[in-house]
Amino acid sequence: MKPETQAIHAGQPSDPVTGAVTIPIYQTSTYEQEAIGKPRAGYEYSRTGNPTRVALENALAALEGACHGLAFSSGVAASEAVIRLLKPGDEIIAGDDLYGGTYRLFEKVWRPWGLSIRYVDAADPAAFAAAISPRSRLLWVETPTNPLLKIVDLAALGRLARDKHLWLAVDNTFASPYLQRPLEFGAHLVIHSTTKYLGGHSDVIGGAVLTSDPALFEALRYLQNAAGAVPAPWDCWLVLRGLKTLPLRMRAHGENALALAQYLESHPAVARVYYSGLSSHPQHSLARRQMRNYGGMISAELKGGFPAVESFVGNLRLFKLAESLGGVESLVCYPPRMTHASLPAEERRHRGIGDGLVRLSVGIEHVDDLRLDLERALEAARRNSG
Ligand SMILES: *Cc1c(COP(=O)(O)O)cnc(C)c1O
Repeated sequence: MKPETQAIHAGQPSDPVTGAVTIPIYQTSTYEQEAIGKPRAGYEYSRTGNPTRVALENALAALEGACHGLAFSSGVAASEAVIRLLKPGDEIIAGDDLYGGTYRLFEKVWRPWGLSIRYVDAADPAAFAAAISPRSRLLWVETPTNPLLKIVDLAALGRLARDKHLWLAVDNTFASPYLQRPLEFGAHLVIHSTTKYLGGHSDVIGGAVLTSDPALFEALRYLQNAAGAVPAPWDCWLVLRGLKTLPLRMRAHGENALALAQYLESHPAVARVYYSGLSSHPQHSLARRQMRNYGGMISAELKGGFPAVESFVGNLRLFKLAESLGGVESLVCYPPRMTHASLPAEERRHRGIGDGLVRLSVGIEHVDDLRLDLERALEAARRNSG
């Protein structure tokens, strides 16, 4: 099945009792058993399993081309479950441009516990190869990266992981499975914050891990139940509902973002635009090979630093100032003080996150309205930064 069909049907048969075409919200903590040791349909307790959650897990697995899916209560909880597969002394080689919360989890939770984490240029597969040591277990990347929207060569890292017997985990939140399916490039684990494009409506927090490796699946399923970071049935249902329009939405996000990135690149108040759909992006051809379109996220460095950013953000009307991304509505954020505030200032500068950097999550409103909104705010930024 094609993704448009999977998003609507995979894992979501009509309800066997009533024929309801939409999966019900099984709002129950427990299930009556036929006899001791004889649950009716395999369900005993909703931390361990719930039919609404199973529908979501199967739908997400189908979309990623995975054999197995596991839903979690947040994207961070999904990441946490994957990292728990490691032991003290093990090492992660991670791309250097990461979701701020993942960086915080690595540095403040897992490093003190005994993991070592090395960061390398996400855009350079040779840097990953050079960093591998006998303690390395896991390669961890996002692509496109956050907030600088570098593209990671998934095929190259898939080969490296196979040759060196490491796991490759890909946080596919920014692309969604409609734009790229990392397992096809050799990844072992795909991680999602379903809060973003999969849910798509900024109304739910959730996460997921997808894999086709039976041993990894068993270990993660054990952790899902034993550590217990499971999503509520209602939250699973919201993500399932959002998922049905994922392909339509991703096409609209990508079209709007490409048009706005081209507009921004031509604007005199903008110093630099980061968007892999632009031919000026150093990895444009890799993005074209690896992704169906270039997604809905744009970062741009404004001339005039923070004062310019302040008047830009203050003069936007449609783009709302908020954390998060991937919803139908357009958002703007200032990574240095918002999503990436947990990075020390020096680390931010080292990574190229400038004081004039803004990140746009381009929604699916009409592109003309979005362009006008940017135009007005950029004029204000230019006036106020002299
Ligand atoms: C938001 C996000 C996360 C964390 O997900 P939550 O649902 O907020 O816990 C992880 N990775 C990326 C790329 C994200 O954007």
